Amino acid sequence: MVRQLGFEARHRTRLDGVPPRHFADLDAAGRESAVAELGLPAFRAKQLAYQYYGRLIADPRLMTDLPAGVRDRLAAALFPNLLTAVREVACDSGQTRKTLWRAVDGTMVESVLMRYPQRATVCVSSQAGCGMACPFCATGQAGLSRNLSAAEILEQVRAAAATLRDDFGDRLSNVVFMGMGEPLANYARVVAAVRRITEPAGFGVSARAVTVSTVGLAPAIRKLADERLALTLALSLHAPDDELRDTLVPANTRWNISDVLDAARHYADTTGRRVSVEYALIRDVNDQPWRAELLAKRLRRVLGPLAHVNVIPLNPTPGSNWKASPKAVRREFVRRVRAHGVPCTVRDTRGREISAACGQLAADTASRRQRTRLVPMVSL
Ligand code: SAH
Repeated sequence: MVRQLGFEARHRTRLDGVPPRHFADLDAAGRESAVAELGLPAFRAKQLAYQYYGRLIADPRLMTDLPAGVRDRLAAALFPNLLTAVREVACDSGQTRKTLWRAVDGTMVESVLMRYPQRATVCVSSQAGCGMACPFCATGQAGLSRNLSAAEILEQVRAAAATLRDDFGDRLSNVVFMGMGEPLANYARVVAAVRRITEPAGFGVSARAVTVSTVGLAPAIRKLADERLALTLALSLHAPDDELRDTLVPANTRWNISDVLDAARHYADTTGRRVSVEYALIRDVNDQPWRAELLAKRLRRVLGPLAHVNVIPLNPTPGSNWKASPKAVRREFVRRVRAHGVPCTVRDTRGREISAACGQLAADTASRRQRTRLVPMVSL
């Protein structure tokens, strides 16, 4: 317990009043008291929620069903402009778009919108930077700046939903927490955001279409299971043996593979959902046939039919010698995992050509002020 508190304390960041409070930080009760504080009747809270979550409008001055006299007051009190798009890049004939956002304190975060024939997914950031220090991930190299607020997360979702509606006449179907940051290290705000994303009176995205990806903070995985949200859990395993995983995912030195798989099993049992095990294949590092065998055996033993392996071709980060595994090695890895009865797919990697550009988006901007590299995000 003491050690656990130590870990959490080291990875905790305070928001220090940044960013300011926003309507999207509030649940239904909070929205009612916020409008009451402004001397407005309770029904305005529902009206605002409909405008924000239903019509995707974040500026009260555009909410024409509000009396003109209160719009400015609401804008100042509850709808500060939290994120400003500073750059956008598109690829895959416009089907993939990455946005670099600047928060009120100058913090930069990225989100990615991906359209597919049957679905549209936004990949959001939960923290600015990341404290988990995974060496193959450039966000991990830059360290953690701060947690994002629930509203900063939700603004990324709202922007994606508005783009889909306005530019494509389409709806947002999936949200994945696979951008910058470790979502479970910003637990309360991420869970608050997830509730707003999935509530019918929120963005109304199906819970199973929301994926939270984690390095494996075991107690937080158990807590998430007990929220009964039925989200999809993605576990960034990347190695089936502690010796290697200690180096690839340093959080493993705190919660090792069996701790993490036990927590994942609890998640699967409680929610009935299959856990998605993420495995970034790195040439000559974690792609050996024996590791495929060990991976499959351990998953089979602990998770039974409730595991699914997602192989991600490594997206090499600037300045690193690590490369993606050759196709033949990848095929053999997948074949061996499947041979043990564990479903295994290779992730469709969208936006590779702008992934670098995307990392550069943040890095370009960052390097003018500080010499850090931000990560090209993984495409989903
Ligand atoms: N912190 C969370 C979510 C963010 S990253 C987590 O670690 O799960 C989302 C996924 O992308 C994780 O599985 C992460 O390990 C993986 N990833 C990070 N950098 C990568 C890279 N350069 N190439 C391939 N996958 C990467």
